[in-house]
Amino acid sequence: MSKHRELILEIIKSSGHMTADEIYMKAKQIRPSIAIGTVYRNLGLMTEAREIRRIFVPNAPDRFDSFTNPHEHLFCQNCRTLSDISINNLKDYLEKQTGVKIIGYDLNLKYICSECRKKEETKEQI
Ligand SMILES: [Zn+2]
Ligand SMILES: [Zn+2]
Repeated sequence: MSKHRELILEIIKSSGHMTADEIYMKAKQIRPSIAIGTVYRNLGLMTEAREIRRIFVPNAPDRFDSFTNPHEHLFCQNCRTLSDISINNLKDYLEKQTGVKIIGYDLNLKYICSECRKKEETKEQI
């Protein structure tokens, strides 16, 4: 594994679901000589190699996830934070319902996270 690739993987592991730009910013802090093209190219290669997972987010940049096991995401519509969740046997259920063998899926459940809900509540009280 190249030095850059190692660094990028470390960053993704330490911070959860980041966009390519966020990963680049962080990588640049640690290694100022790193080019944005290098980060993008490595993210592509790592996704192909299944070292990381690319998460498609509607109307927002893709996020990258170091947790490659099948899992789903809760997506806060307010602060756009992604959280991991795991729904047991969802793939089996989907396969039974559709009658096809599912290789993978992207499921983002939209919600308002508790942090944002708390903020909303305090706003309403004012
Ligand atoms: Zn939120
Ligand atoms: Zn995740």
